[in-house]
Amino acid sequence: MIGRRRFLGAAAGSLALAACQAPSSASHIEGGFDGIDMARGHALRDGSLAGKAPDESRRTRVLIAGGGVAGLAAARALRLAGVEDFVLLELEDAMGGNSRGTMVKGLPCPMGAHYLPVPGDDAPEVQDLLEELGLRRRVAGRWEYDERHLCHSPQERLFFEGQWQEGLLPVQGVPGRTLEQYRCFEALVESLRQQGHFAIPMARSVLGPEQLALDAQPFDAWLARQGLDDPHLRWYLDYCCRDDYGAGSGEVSAWAGIHYFASRHGFHAPGGAADDSPERDAVLTWPEGNGWLTRRLAEPLEARRALCGQVVTRIAQTRSGVEIDAFDAVRRALVRWQAEHCIVALPVFVAARVVQSPPDFLRQAAASLRHAPWTVANVHLRAPLADRPGAAPSWDSVLYGTRGLGYVDAGHQRLDPTPRETVISWYRPLGPSRYDAGVDGRRLLLERPWGGWRDELLAELSAAHPDLAELATRVQVTRYGHAMAIPTPGLLAQLGGKPQRLVREGRLAFAHADWSGYSIFEEAFSRGHWAGLAVAGRPSA
Ligand SMILES: Cc1cc2nc3c(=O)[nH]c(=O)nc-3n(C[C@H](O)[C@H](O)[C@H](O)COP(=O)(O)OP(=O)(O)OC[C@H]3O[C@@H](n4cnc5c(N)ncnc54)[C@H](O)[C@@H]3O)c2cc1C
Repeated sequence: MIGRRRFLGAAAGSLALAACQAPSSASHIEGGFDGIDMARGHALRDGSLAGKAPDESRRTRVLIAGGGVAGLAAARALRLAGVEDFVLLELEDAMGGNSRGTMVKGLPCPMGAHYLPVPGDDAPEVQDLLEELGLRRRVAGRWEYDERHLCHSPQERLFFEGQWQEGLLPVQGVPGRTLEQYRCFEALVESLRQQGHFAIPMARSVLGPEQLALDAQPFDAWLARQGLDDPHLRWYLDYCCRDDYGAGSGEVSAWAGIHYFASRHGFHAPGGAADDSPERDAVLTWPEGNGWLTRRLAEPLEARRALCGQVVTRIAQTRSGVEIDAFDAVRRALVRWQAEHCIVALPVFVAARVVQSPPDFLRQAAASLRHAPWTVANVHLRAPLADRPGAAPSWDSVLYGTRGLGYVDAGHQRLDPTPRETVISWYRPLGPSRYDAGVDGRRLLLERPWGGWRDELLAELSAAHPDLAELATRVQVTRYGHAMAIPTPGLLAQLGGKPQRLVREGRLAFAHADWSGYSIFEEAFSRGHWAGLAVAGRPSA
């Protein structure tokens, strides 16, 4: 039950959010919710599907529960290992989970995840996938990525002090002390990177006492201890945490805050040592975001092996195998599956609910993990937005100091430069952060009509684009109640303190980004891949 203080806080927060008034001219904009069937998930939570007698029985060698990136990667690994007798069950009406694409007025756009950084050598599984999909190839002894899918320039810009500047780090007009703190943070990241291995996927990281000490403290507290108090630096770092983890820099561990930079190309201070690194920030992206990748992962699975609208309600190990109950939401029938193995590619809190007699590690992980809710709104524009002065329109446009993370333009990768209609995707994390003190994000998702999200985004983005309301014709909103795990202080220790590639119990193999404590494509994909190979009896490299 919600306590009085929390309720008052949440109510105050909701009111504050309700106060973001959109221009009155917004009434012509049509829209609605998209992509998530909340009733299916809630039926599982409320227990209304439990204890029903099965309407039919079916058999398969391997059953994969959950068709997000991890489940799709597991299916691919089974096929690579020669196992064709498997079935993948997904709750929603399409495969892909948080990495699905959608369409607004016939234009493709992301529903959630929208980019994949070019993977490093710690992620050979992801590199192999990209090679298989023709995105990566060897040219004259060097690996090259398909230019059509590498994010075109200009990539990012920031609306700061009334104008657009290139890049997301506030630089224009900031005092010398700010630049000094940028350089200091860059040096700290570099020295921590040399001391410990911050890998993606994180199961290849080395976690020694120094890394576990970073895991034990909030990122903000660690920054304060280093004397890093510059508001511009702190805004940027908080933005990065909300972007990757859905929650602010006061909520995530110092390990996670540093991992964001140290696992990739570091932090680049203007004029600092790494400023002109050629490899920085190379990302792959598509109009439909990472839906491009999940569609290709799902393509080889014919309809009989990849079933949507299936709510897995129970997974029980028996003496000779695994029994899985799934409610077919289309036919309204309960199907009982018998399998030799089950790959549980479900979020950990769902796995803990459906696995019978859950093992201690699953119970403990479910108790330790907190999830950030998110909203993504896709806005159809009948013509390009007029711009304030400064940097040119980019793939990613961010407004300094706003609750949302700005927007990406789904039309950015088009090769034809003719100005025309497009879709912009506005990202709004709802995990705990300084912007949402007292707001209960999950409750807001449940209660707020789609027009509330339209009004919030219009109010926010109109500061940079006063013509937004006039040009917008449709807004499609996707709500994620438990979008991604937040890497809270102490989480790595609670998950065992030693990164594990394979989480297994008898005939069950668990695969989901949650097992890494934070959610990105590479984590989900590698875990699905390892689980698939393990179930097929193939050791992974
Ligand atoms: C708004 C948003 C933006 C993001 N942006 C990026 C990005 O740009 N780049 C990036 O790398 N990552 C991004 N991510 C992270 C993203 O979560 C991961 O990249 C990846 O998609 C996670 O895959 P997964 O398989 O671990 O989890 P999920 O996507 O959670 O997949 C789990 C699947 O299980 C299904 N399921 C749940 N319960 C049941 C049940 N009872 N029965 C059957 N099926 C069930 C779900 O419907 C879902 O399809 C973003 C996430 C969000 C929410």
